[in-house]
Amino acid sequence: MELIVCVKQVPGTTQVEMDPVTGTLKRDGVSSKMNPYDLFALEAALTLRERCGGHITALTMGPPQAKSILLEAVSMGADSAVLLSDRKLGGADVLATAYALSQAVKGRKWDILFCGKQTTDGDTAQVGAETAEFLGVPHVSNVTAIEDIAEDHVDVRVDLDTHVMVQRLPLPCVLCMDRDVNTPRLPSWKRRRELTEEPIEVLSVADLPDPDPKRYGLNGSPTKVERIFQPEKAAQRQMIYGSAEETAAALTALLAEKKFLQEV
Ligand code: FAD
Repeated sequence: MELIVCVKQVPGTTQVEMDPVTGTLKRDGVSSKMNPYDLFALEAALTLRERCGGHITALTMGPPQAKSILLEAVSMGADSAVLLSDRKLGGADVLATAYALSQAVKGRKWDILFCGKQTTDGDTAQVGAETAEFLGVPHVSNVTAIEDIAEDHVDVRVDLDTHVMVQRLPLPCVLCMDRDVNTPRLPSWKRRRELTEEPIEVLSVADLPDPDPKRYGLNGSPTKVERIFQPEKAAQRQMIYGSAEETAAALTALLAEKKFLQEV
């Protein structure tokens, strides 16, 4: 079974600034980590490989520093990794990101492409579905378990809040894993130390089946984030001091004045 897992590098802190011109995150100098949701996707792929054998490739589109999450994926057990990295990819929205990922997958032999449910930075939860569209394969989101696997199909459990269903998808397909569906294993430093060959293949736009720069990055992104700002806090605050009786009386009078209390 050939498994590919999409992993994204996200800021490791909430103290991140936006570029006022492009509306994209300023990632320079900000600590980064693997998107927590992608750990569940990777663990699902590792468990599936234990069940039926195969090969796992971790895939990310990002700056050169994103290599660190690929090494983490390999230390957790992925067999190889692909870093899609090029200045032409910068500022990509969901459409351009999904197109780039689909291009990195095209031409490879693969059975299941795993994604996380969403990221902790962009948070749109659309990349998996759009990547599947570009690849022309079925996809399903909110996957909580892989029930059964055969040569030509996979049965997955899907949690839809109001009900749970088991769906059968023909292979190849895209599965977007829900959160907290497993316990991701820790990276093995022994495994990392024992790596004799560089496990990361680096691709640029020129290496993709469609190298047209108009399809990628800001050029290929119909969505532009116009402005991001902290909402102003307009609510007024009034402090009430005194004993329990005094504050209760003052609060009751205030609520009555604002007509939040009805006289009985
Ligand atoms: P999601 O769709 O939430 O990610 C789902 C899964 O896809 C991930 O768990 C991962 O497995 C995989 N994945 C996602 N990105 C990558 C990657 N680079 N490499 C490998 N796997 C990946 N874009 C829009 O089109 N519309 C918007 O409204 C929008 N609003 C934004 C608001 C903010 C504050 C920010 C920072 C970005 C916004 N973007 C928007 C841009 C969007 O975040 C990026 O295009 C991003 O590359 C993909 O979307 P996501 O992070 O939401 O991914």
